Amino acid sequence: MLVIRFPYDPAHNERLRQASGGRARWSQHLRAFIVPVTAVADPAIRSGLAGFAAEQRLTADPAARGQLSLTGVVLRADMLPTGVWGSNLRGILSRDQWAGLRIPVAEAAGGVCEICGKPSVNDEGRKVRPDCHERWSFDMRPGSVLLAVQTLTGLIALCKVCHLVQHLGFAEVQGRVAEVIEQLRAVNGWTYAEARVDLDRARREFDYRSAFSWDLDLTVLRGRIAVPTAPDLYVAAGRRAQLGNSFQPRPTVRAALRPVGQPAPV
Ligand SMILES: [Zn+2]
Repeated sequence: MLVIRFPYDPAHNERLRQASGGRARWSQHLRAFIVPVTAVADPAIRSGLAGFAAEQRLTADPAARGQLSLTGVVLRADMLPTGVWGSNLRGILSRDQWAGLRIPVAEAAGGVCEICGKPSVNDEGRKVRPDCHERWSFDMRPGSVLLAVQTLTGLIALCKVCHLVQHLGFAEVQGRVAEVIEQLRAVNGWTYAEARVDLDRARREFDYRSAFSWDLDLTVLRGRIAVPTAPDLYVAAGRRAQLGNSFQPRPTVRAALRPVGQPAPV
């Protein structure tokens, strides 16, 4: 999602409306115009917005510059390798710490999905705060031994459907792969066959990555979170299980940190 701010002027608003193909909308929450990533992926809109930015002498932060050079694919299916399931921020951090990260991400996105620009809707059809999704990279790092490292690269606000695309394995278990395909088609403008090719790629990556034990690198959050057992926010694969897991209701670390004399939480 692109966030665009400029001094108030009705003529400029109209220019932005034209440049964005009518896709820019005012966010009262952000006090700025926002354009969803799906619109920015359209080459005509992208060049229109780049022209508008040049006219207005707007400067873009690096993330926005990245979006203006998008190749057209805004969302790909993903599937976390088996060894890291549940070993995520929600499992590692206290409830309050996690809320302190995820809620500002949703608010900064104006309460809508950063990929499709739509509000998040739960199973009962009610509008809810977008989910905060962790973006990861999986890389081999050279050293005295080759390390497999899962690195947190950022947090993004996603609606329920875009979030489902990021957890293809969960979608398969739930019998919801058709929704994943439909969303990939909708946001990327893909054919059915193109979406299927992406699912096959995600499954191949899953098979490959599941063969490794992954270290965890959370250093992008340095200064924003504290993990007592991993002050440098880097955790070797063998120690990840001690940090807590969102699939388990009572992580070891939190239990270990309870005040002396207090009973263990049940
Ligand atoms: Zn979405």
